[in-house]
Amino acid sequence: MTVATKVRPIIGLEIHVQLRTRTKLFCGCEVQTDAPPNSRVCGICLGHPGTLPVMNRVALESAALAGMALGCEIARFTKWDRKSYYYPDLPKNYQISQYDIPLAAGGTFEFDVDGSPREIRIRRAHLEEDAGKNIHDTPGCTLVDLNRTGTPLLEIVTEPDLASADDTYAFCVELQRLVRHLGVSEADMQKGHMRFEPNVNVAIEHNGREYRTPIAEVKNINSFKFVRQAISYEIERQVAVWEENNDYVIGKASNENRGWDADRGVTEFQRGKEAAHDYRYFPDPDLLPVQLSDETLGSIRAQLVERPVQRRRRFASEYGLSMKDAETIVEHRPTADLFDEVIKLGGPAEIAGKQFVNVWLKHANDRGVAVTELGVEAARIAELAKMTAEGTVNKTAANQLADAMLTRSNCPSALAKELGLVQVQDADATARWVDEAFAANQQAVSDARTNPKKMQAAIGFLRGQVMKLSGGKADPKLVGKLIEERLQQP
Ligand SMILES: [Zn+2]
Repeated sequence: MTVATKVRPIIGLEIHVQLRTRTKLFCGCEVQTDAPPNSRVCGICLGHPGTLPVMNRVALESAALAGMALGCEIARFTKWDRKSYYYPDLPKNYQISQYDIPLAAGGTFEFDVDGSPREIRIRRAHLEEDAGKNIHDTPGCTLVDLNRTGTPLLEIVTEPDLASADDTYAFCVELQRLVRHLGVSEADMQKGHMRFEPNVNVAIEHNGREYRTPIAEVKNINSFKFVRQAISYEIERQVAVWEENNDYVIGKASNENRGWDADRGVTEFQRGKEAAHDYRYFPDPDLLPVQLSDETLGSIRAQLVERPVQRRRRFASEYGLSMKDAETIVEHRPTADLFDEVIKLGGPAEIAGKQFVNVWLKHANDRGVAVTELGVEAARIAELAKMTAEGTVNKTAANQLADAMLTRSNCPSALAKELGLVQVQDADATARWVDEAFAANQQAVSDARTNPKKMQAAIGFLRGQVMKLSGGKADPKLVGKLIEERLQQP
């Protein structure tokens, strides 16, 4: 037995993303996969003779927009091809896809792994229709639901540029963020809106030679976690097989399709990989080729928004947010838009960021809505951050104000006055509260002065008493300073 000395995983992916359209790719049937079985079908999506498909323009434009965001060149001329295969969930025996002229090609996509930038090349992205669903949950028979037949999919094919399961995981998550940010897909994993097929092999360096194992394509994974697990499993499996048998290399052993068994945590052999010619691709005679004018391309390009990865980086570098806070805010585009507006309206970035994550997002999560649905406008969020930064209100009062802002539409400065939350910067008044607290709490004062074990707790207690006497309005910084001074005095 040989033992692999150095192993380098080589990973690429094919991803199917369900585009968000009202109707299917070539007919007027509604996209509603959870409707009663076979209730969203017509002669076109079933391929009945004599019916003619018509392309869905929204699907094409969404696909082109996603292609642009992936850094791809968009083809000005493209066409539709039939990919022939027989399967019960595809009653017309061919799938309409794009073969030799994909809508988009030659892109690069950036993402981050634990704050380090990564890049992956996008080979192509094309449009195709989905097949139906075979349902195996009735003993003794298989049922077919064709509601999904003809749903528009964007198939994205990457180059094998990824080198670990963790990098692949991060890429998949970032891709979900992108299509959601663009609004081209809901990208709901539970509903199967994103399906991943990682292709994995390993380069093994041994005794000055490099061996490459055959490529295994793991089919149809609909969870980020399973993508990571399947890839880790494949890397280990392939190295182990090669160690048993050095002929397990590209050219000598064949590439294969495998399936992920989530219960057992293993991939299983399905079949040897077919070559493209097995599908007998040929141009669909029923559909016109697609020509995209400069004008159309321009209007699609105008919908491009800042990509989430760039936006996170900008929030960190320009606004000084932590990567974690930036990630939280950028997760949802309207939320990130609102934050940009808050800053534009003069909200100090650092405090606004903290309040956004610790106060506003928390309220939103408690209510199960987005921050944008709290009924608190950017101007008021900005003003509260400003008041906190300038010391008009302290942190505790700011939280109370935020609570009040949720139910009332007044501006925070008016609310602060009305609720008596304006911070007292008056040193004399604060000193009087300190005196009062010291007089009433002799034991704590003596602990703070002479008992090293209890000192911190005693000071904290005194600070709390002063804040209480002030009705929460004292400036905690000033209070701390005055307590310290007072403790030095006899
Ligand atoms: Zn239809």
